[in-house]
Amino acid sequence: MLLKESREEIVKYGNKMLESNLTTGSGGNLSIYNREANLVAISPSGLPYYETRPEDIVIVNLQGEIIEGKLQPSSELNMHLIFYKNRPDVNAVMHTHSVFATTISCLNEEIPAVHYLVAFGGNKIPCADYATYGTQELAENAWQSMGSKYQVGLLANHGLLAVANDMSAAFNSAEEIEFAAELYYRTRAIGEPVILNESEMDLMQEKFKTYGQVQKNQKVE
Ligand SMILES: [Zn+2]
Repeated sequence: MLLKESREEIVKYGNKMLESNLTTGSGGNLSIYNREANLVAISPSGLPYYETRPEDIVIVNLQGEIIEGKLQPSSELNMHLIFYKNRPDVNAVMHTHSVFATTISCLNEEIPAVHYLVAFGGNKIPCADYATYGTQELAENAWQSMGSKYQVGLLANHGLLAVANDMSAAFNSAEEIEFAAELYYRTRAIGEPVILNESEMDLMQEKFKTYGQVQKNQKVE
């Protein structure tokens, strides 16, 4: 069985997405790119996370051809591949339909720096233009919106996309930006949120670059 560890990680983080209310049922999808093998392990299409076993994970190459697996890969495969093809710093992609991020995406608005934790995604969270789910157009819109600058983006009228060096970091970013999206929703409901300035957000992004290395021993406060 190819990429056994990546398959197990996808099962584990799929369940973590459910437990953390980042998605429901089979919504969203996640993948890991093994650069040595030049292969991607991705969640299968339409299978609930709690039923997914390591052998259900689909292994594809960067052209999207199935190398190993009986099931169809996630319908958003192209949106994952476009980041692996274009960003050497990205080895994991997580896509969720978490409620508050998706709420903001339905306004077709960005999430500004309402809290310093927005820096997990960039100095703001951009929103990609709408396109039908599972299309190459959606993959291109996401890439055009996030490019090499952002770790997290919204997809208009759809959800959230997080890219990172590894799956643990992608999950963290998805979770922190869902939190920021909720804060943005709540603050706008009762007033006008104060937005942090660019230089503070640049500093926060510098600090978070080492977050992956420190997270095992300490939490960001
Ligand atoms: Zn989706």
